[in-house]
Amino acid sequence: MVAERLMPTQESADLIDLTRTIVARELSPHVTEYESSGEFPREVFRALGGLGLLSLPFPEEYGGGGQSYEVYLQVLEEIATGWASVGVGVSVHALSCFGLLTAGTDEQKKKWLPELLAGDKLGAYCLSEAHAGSDPAAMRTKAVRDGDDYVIRGQKAWTTHGGVADFYKVMARTSDDGANGISCFLVPADSPGLRADTPELKMGLMGSTTASMLFEDVRVPAEQRLGDEGHGLQIALAGLDAGRLGISAVATGLAQGALDVSVAYAKERETFGKPIIEHQGLAFILADMAAAVESSRATYLAAARMKDAGRPFSRQASIAKLVATDNAMKVATDAVQVLGGAGYTRDFPAERYMREAKVMQIFEGTNQIQRLVISRDLSR
Ligand SMILES: Cc1cc2nc3c(=O)[nH]c(=O)nc-3n(C[C@H](O)[C@H](O)[C@H](O)COP(=O)(O)OP(=O)(O)OC[C@H]3O[C@@H](n4cnc5c(N)ncnc54)[C@H](O)[C@@H]3O)c2cc1C
Repeated sequence: MVAERLMPTQESADLIDLTRTIVARELSPHVTEYESSGEFPREVFRALGGLGLLSLPFPEEYGGGGQSYEVYLQVLEEIATGWASVGVGVSVHALSCFGLLTAGTDEQKKKWLPELLAGDKLGAYCLSEAHAGSDPAAMRTKAVRDGDDYVIRGQKAWTTHGGVADFYKVMARTSDDGANGISCFLVPADSPGLRADTPELKMGLMGSTTASMLFEDVRVPAEQRLGDEGHGLQIALAGLDAGRLGISAVATGLAQGALDVSVAYAKERETFGKPIIEHQGLAFILADMAAAVESSRATYLAAARMKDAGRPFSRQASIAKLVATDNAMKVATDAVQVLGGAGYTRDFPAERYMREAKVMQIFEGTNQIQRLVISRDLSR
């Protein structure tokens, strides 16, 4: 079953069709292999970049697709329905490029964006540290000015694409002034002193490499600082508002995949002489799953339209992330139930969806932190 979409233009409807073809041809056949081996599918990102699917929400003058978030997120959802790890990777890559667009000089944009948007270079986003996840202002990694350079020393935790990226957007402390003492830097992967630790052994998303990045006196020219000194956390958090919309779309795509597997199974599997979808008790689980998927989609699209209209959308992005990822966890758990014992085996993808959904409630701000953002906005 494909998701029913009302796209704003014929061009965007064609883009969805193209994405579905690419997902069926280039992504779906490889999911099990990569998710079992834990290998990173770098060539998939090159292929998506070559087709323009890594650059959709960026301006055309820098090699972007010039598409609205309403369109980009629906393409991302389709990718994630096929392969959640790749959906997460596309979203994180966009997050790593986002600060360049909002805070970069024209020179920085022209130098870095075209190769990133074409997929020739893969980006990563280094904000979290072992003791500073929900509270990034507690970070300790330092960038000390030395002539025309900064020297970065410390460790960033949990970096998606850590060790496989070509470029890291790094937030580091340039003064002791709390949240106002953090700056943002562009650090190429081949910078001397930069290396990745052993990748994390995760519950799911095995095809998405996650590792700590170790900075041992990494020298970065001052012209690779994004924005003013002390504005790094603002740049990082503004990127996260858009990134949370990306994760909302990925979670919705994953939930759609879990629903599709469940409906197909429920039409085939028979108990008491009829397909289980004809037992009302089971059919109502499917109905609730479908309602959850559609609510997630409607919620992230409402937030995307606020962003596209140039309106503040931070609260709506947090609501979308909260709704879509909680729904994904519920839908994926129900998918395992619908498939019964088969759902608990690796013969079907239901158990994988369940393992993958969990982390969506954790990264890019846990869902407790989303509630904090929403409630703070309400109390203003
Ligand atoms: C697979 C994966 C990929 C990731 N990728 C990246 C990446 O690419 N770049 C990056 O920078 N980071 C990344 N992260 C890090 C992620 O963003 C953090 O794990 C997340 O922000 C939570 O931080 P923490 O793990 O330190 O948990 P903590 O901050 O230690 O939180 C622990 C618990 O306490 C709760 N909590 C904390 N503070 C509050 C509060 N004020 N009120 C109520 N509850 C609270 C949390 O919700 C959570 O349940 C990734 C994480 C994972 C697991």
